[in-house]
Amino acid sequence: MIVKKITRRNFFASLVSVGVGLPLIGRFTQGQPTKKGNLNRPLIVTSKTNPDVKESVTTTAWDVLKEGGSPLDAAEKAVNVSELDLKDPTVGYGGSPNEEGDLQLDASVMSGPDGNNAGAVAALENIKTPCSVARLVMERTDHLFLVGKGALKFAKMHGFKEENLLTEEARKEWVEWKENLSERDYYLPPRKKYKPEGGGTINVFVLDAKGDIAGVTSTSGHHFKLVGRVGDSPIIGAGLYVDNDIGDAGSSGHGAESIKVCASFLAVEKMREGMTPLQACRFVCQRVVDRHDGKPMFGLKIAALNKAGDYGCGSIRGRIDKESGKVVGRGFSVHDAKGHRSEPGDALLPPMTKEERDSIPRR
Ligand code: ASP
Repeated sequence: MIVKKITRRNFFASLVSVGVGLPLIGRFTQGQPTKKGNLNRPLIVTSKTNPDVKESVTTTAWDVLKEGGSPLDAAEKAVNVSELDLKDPTVGYGGSPNEEGDLQLDASVMSGPDGNNAGAVAALENIKTPCSVARLVMERTDHLFLVGKGALKFAKMHGFKEENLLTEEARKEWVEWKENLSERDYYLPPRKKYKPEGGGTINVFVLDAKGDIAGVTSTSGHHFKLVGRVGDSPIIGAGLYVDNDIGDAGSSGHGAESIKVCASFLAVEKMREGMTPLQACRFVCQRVVDRHDGKPMFGLKIAALNKAGDYGCGSIRGRIDKESGKVVGRGFSVHDAKGHRSEPGDALLPPMTKEERDSIPRR
């Protein structure tokens, strides 16, 4: 819902009035704090790296702000792009199913200007845009979290249509997985074969020109997960956290580990203590690595922004850059006064070796 109309001209005037203009371009690299008094607002950050959707996600959020929408309007509409995009196999419609071939979707929203209020849904079936249902949980109830059948009933009551979310492509992958089950299956993240290029849970963070912040996270969760499994994405403080005085953080990757350290809450609290978003993301990643004696056998990515418009993204495990042969972090996307761009994140460790992958205990 768009609450306040501002004109296109006022929107850009507001950019200048908060100190963002051409002379500052190039200053806001990841981990570099803004100079006192310089604010990089508005700012959109998303964890999304799919070539097909990353730009449409950030530009949608930017356009909603330009039309006078709230940070939550912008984040919700941006996440809807990914949820409705069939080319995105990890979120919403066209996402990946659980072990029984059904999609169970998880999503959360949090809005700074609404009193840091939050809403979430988990294991929601047959609804293409779970983050919009999570928003309604926040706005139309005094509950925070609805799951399964209750979440579906609530969505239908509010006019959402029940639809089949399983695409032919996802069905074929699921059947192939079923046909190849062995005693080595363990319900952890799938082998690379099933891992879509650059996909994954979406976090969208929106900081508007006034400094108000909202965040949305949405996912279809781990491929072929157990029925009823819920990850970090709908857990406030794990997959998403917003404090309108401080900033916003979200996680993607191996959700159980994010939940165990309250990853997003921890990142925001570290920013409250004075860390930059990048330092806070690194801190959380290091905490997880330490809990696993320096050898985590999974991936986890944390992205964050603060109220001034600094941002950062850290991963536990990076990837090897084909050209340089060096370890680089998992990427993320940004939209600010400079426009849309993708940036490399930071990584604490190289990707797992084949030996490490093979050493993961199976049931
Ligand atoms: N974090 C998600 C979950 O655990 C999955 C992902 O980001 O790949 O459900």
